[in-house]
Amino acid sequence: MKEQVNYLPISREKDAWLKSTIRDIPDFPKPGIVFKDLTTLLKDRKAFSYVIDVLSEKFAPLKPDYVAGIEARGFILGPAIAYEIGCGFIPIRKPGKLPHKVEKAVYDLEYGSDCVEIHVDAIEDHEKVVIIDDLLATGGTAEAAYRLLKTVGADVRGIGFVVELGFLKGRLKLPTGMEIFSVINYD
Ligand code: AMP
Repeated sequence: MKEQVNYLPISREKDAWLKSTIRDIPDFPKPGIVFKDLTTLLKDRKAFSYVIDVLSEKFAPLKPDYVAGIEARGFILGPAIAYEIGCGFIPIRKPGKLPHKVEKAVYDLEYGSDCVEIHVDAIEDHEKVVIIDDLLATGGTAEAAYRLLKTVGADVRGIGFVVELGFLKGRLKLPTGMEIFSVINYD
């Protein structure tokens, strides 16, 4: 792990800087949605390392056994955070991708539903897990990941995001009694 730096709480200047590295794509993937494109943040080495350091600083004190990343963008961020904290990484995947026996959690989308999967033996009972995804919108994806981890016996200690679309109030869908943290918030 790199030398510990204290980034929290994040200053207004850093918040504005990080927001300036994110690109808004209107009407993607469908009309009316403003897509927060994080590829521009990820390719900026200072912004990328900053968000990894902040999320690691936030969650390291919870001493997780694993970071669980949600496919696909949680796979970019989660392993870097797990490496920093010094714990393992568990993938939460879209249906049909994991080779061994799986548990599933279904969640509602605006139209229809989707599903996430995890290996049944990903967790030993009560191991501590922190969930990571790129962005919290309505909260359905993260809530399903939480349910899935509980099903396989995890002790979920926290959920972290780079971006939270606070105006969508997705946080209200997530369980209470744990650390829910976003580096950047759009109120
Ligand atoms: P939700 O389940 O509504 O919280 O949606 C979260 C998931 O959908 C995350 O994995 C995001 O990658 C993606 N997502 C939802 N809305 C957006 C958005 N406006 N910009 C970028 N990604 C989004």
